[in-house]
Amino acid sequence: PEAITVQELANRMAEKGADLVKALFKMGMMVTVNQTIDQDTAELLVEEFGHNINRVSESDVDIDTAEDVDAPETLQTRPPVVTIMGHVDHGKTSLLDALRGTDVVRGEAGGITQHIGAYQIKTKGGELITFLDTPGHEAFTEMRQRGANVTDIVILVVAGDDGLMPQTIEAINHTKAAGVPMIVAITKADKPEFTPQKIRERLLEHEIIVEAMSGDVQDVEVSAKTGAGLDQLIEKILLQAELMELKANPDRAADATVIEAKLDKGKGPLATVLINRGTLKVGDILVVGTHSGRVRAMLDDKGRQVKTAPPSLPVEVLGIGGVPMAGDTLTVVESEVRAREVAGYRQEKATAKRTTTAPATIENMFSALK
Ligand code: GDP
Ligand code: MG
Repeated sequence: PEAITVQELANRMAEKGADLVKALFKMGMMVTVNQTIDQDTAELLVEEFGHNINRVSESDVDIDTAEDVDAPETLQTRPPVVTIMGHVDHGKTSLLDALRGTDVVRGEAGGITQHIGAYQIKTKGGELITFLDTPGHEAFTEMRQRGANVTDIVILVVAGDDGLMPQTIEAINHTKAAGVPMIVAITKADKPEFTPQKIRERLLEHEIIVEAMSGDVQDVEVSAKTGAGLDQLIEKILLQAELMELKANPDRAADATVIEAKLDKGKGPLATVLINRGTLKVGDILVVGTHSGRVRAMLDDKGRQVKTAPPSLPVEVLGIGGVPMAGDTLTVVESEVRAREVAGYRQEKATAKRTTTAPATIENMFSALK
């Protein structure tokens, strides 16, 4: 049975928390408004106050995006979202920079600096690929623990002049645990010490059999320095994406995942989000984590204002009432009332979680009874 705090129950009953505490006191229970009571006690209280017992389900007060499934005919192909993982100094940042340099849009405009922790490139063939810049191993695991599986494909970077290092193994384990397909990029191919075969053999010990060893994990030799192999890597990403048939319904209210967020002195809370499905529009009313808001403006990775953001596009959102956490889901709702209701409910729940373990002191006993 579900536990509920006295305050939460009071809110649902539209009664004062202190009145519930008094009633509980008469029933022989010493609790504060912040403490939880079990379902049976809650029902007794509800009866005591003459309310009908109507178990409020979570979905009435909160949003369950998983419950709301899109019909197959509404789905359209979306760009893959790629995360690069590997040992420190093996060349992750260099490879991300080199891949960004292949963007035909950026190429045309020339030297645009990246604005947010994720970017999307347009390949020579016109296909789009989104790269997450910042996750790193910890963020990847943390996001996953919070139920945010934003990565479609992992590129495992291994320096071909080195070997499998602790963080390489860690990345392999995370990727396997997440069930995300992997492409191995053996990098620093320009170096004289480059011995990719050694890497492929070592990967066998971790049950990763690459194509070059007649397995089914794609591998490619690259150099971030000379650009060798980048086209092949992009081809392999697109091939993998095609096999996965990545799809989303673009014609609906958006939901998105927060990649990173911060407080900007001038602009207020800023969140970089990745659109999961639907199209996010300027003016949309939203809930993200425990905050509500309205999209005031959106910037893409090139710092350009955009009015709409389709699936797999990373954008920075302005207009959120507070700073959300990485891994939070952003959901568009129909009204400000609804946005505040959901955000309020989540705040309450978060507060209850923080305070339920706090011991009842005489002081807060009395302040509750006042
Ligand atoms: P990270 O820690 O995985 O992000 O690695 P970095 O991208 O910062 O690269 C670590 C070092 O390796 C830097 O000194 C890079 O210049 C160098 N490096 C990265 N990629 C290449 C490459 O393809 N060729 C060569 N020769 N050096 C590289
Ligand atoms: Mg780096």
